[in-house]
Amino acid sequence: MNKVEHIGIAVKDLATSNTLFAKLFGAPAYKEEGVASEGVITSFFQAGPNKIELLQATHPDSPIAKFIEKRGEGIHHIAFDVTDIHAEMARLQEEGFVLLNETPKLGADNKLVCFLHPKTTNGVLIELCQERV
Ligand code: ZN
Repeated sequence: MNKVEHIGIAVKDLATSNTLFAKLFGAPAYKEEGVASEGVITSFFQAGPNKIELLQATHPDSPIAKFIEKRGEGIHHIAFDVTDIHAEMARLQEEGFVLLNETPKLGADNKLVCFLHPKTTNGVLIELCQERV
């Protein structure tokens, strides 16, 4: 596993939060992107070397809507950059972690992604992501 690629934050209203985070970082979101399969719309901010992803649900069955219902707005996941997502998924499965998807999915920001079930990672949703070439 390589560096933290980004931190994902669940928000109720992307437009409001975009304004808030633009003030926080002193720069607006550099990208907005929907991921229809996940029922989310995302925006990305760069703060120094760090990337922050905001996620808003697009329908009530979206995992983000359910997360906010249970836990409120806040940090939703930590994403780690990986060089070979298939190899990393196999390694982690071997180690007993529960993967939320069996094959990598297409995520936002041109990434292949896989999530680990938070019940096997101390309540923290971990995302593996590999840049698509
Ligand atoms: Zn993410």
